[in-house]
Amino acid sequence: MLTHLSSIHLKKQIQQAENTPYAEQVRIGVLALQGAFLEHCLALYAAGAKPVEIRNSADLENLHGLCLPGGESTVMAKLLVQNNMLEALRSRIQNGMPVFATCAGLILLSRELPGFESQPRLGCLDTAVCRNAFGRQKESFAEDMDITVPKISMDEADTHCRFPAVFIRAPQVVRAGENVRILAQKDGKILAVQQDTITATAFHPELTENTLFHTWLFERAKLYKKQIS
Ligand code: GLN
Repeated sequence: MLTHLSSIHLKKQIQQAENTPYAEQVRIGVLALQGAFLEHCLALYAAGAKPVEIRNSADLENLHGLCLPGGESTVMAKLLVQNNMLEALRSRIQNGMPVFATCAGLILLSRELPGFESQPRLGCLDTAVCRNAFGRQKESFAEDMDITVPKISMDEADTHCRFPAVFIRAPQVVRAGENVRILAQKDGKILAVQQDTITATAFHPELTENTLFHTWLFERAKLYKKQIS
């Protein structure tokens, strides 16, 4: 997988993003407390963005978008509480800052977590999410799936494509509220959703070369930056 890691193309993208003057930068934060944040940073660079790693509430200043990685949601939740970041993140997301979340990130965003009610979370996404719906680490798998990548603006169409979906102790959405759109499902399991400025997948686009979701986040972050400036 991660073949784009060593590509000349990615190195150029990183250089370009690094050299963008500060005033023109769209700042996309990647929560870097635990988990697969580095892979998201690389995917964001590959999409043309300049990611910044987020570890405390001071890092949240001047953000235009946020990526919540996969990993271990219980550990991330604990560290978010310890670092006083839960409320600050929640209010930014509720104020319209675009978010793309994968796996543990989807769990952190979900309003309901059946069986794990006391697990701290952001709760901004009107869903119920079942953790570890596909079994243990050794039951991880990859499979091409039909998915919808949401449009950026009103005058565009959604993108429909086959997507290389990687599942690692993946969760499943078991309830999607009326404002939550289903972007991908398999055997009746909901695996990707969108609620306005939030997009979340149970699988891991950051472990593939397909940067459609990261491009979505970058474009939405550009719009958000315009809105708030
Ligand atoms: N099962 C993990 C959790 O509950 C999520 C797995 C992942 O992010 N790959 O946090």
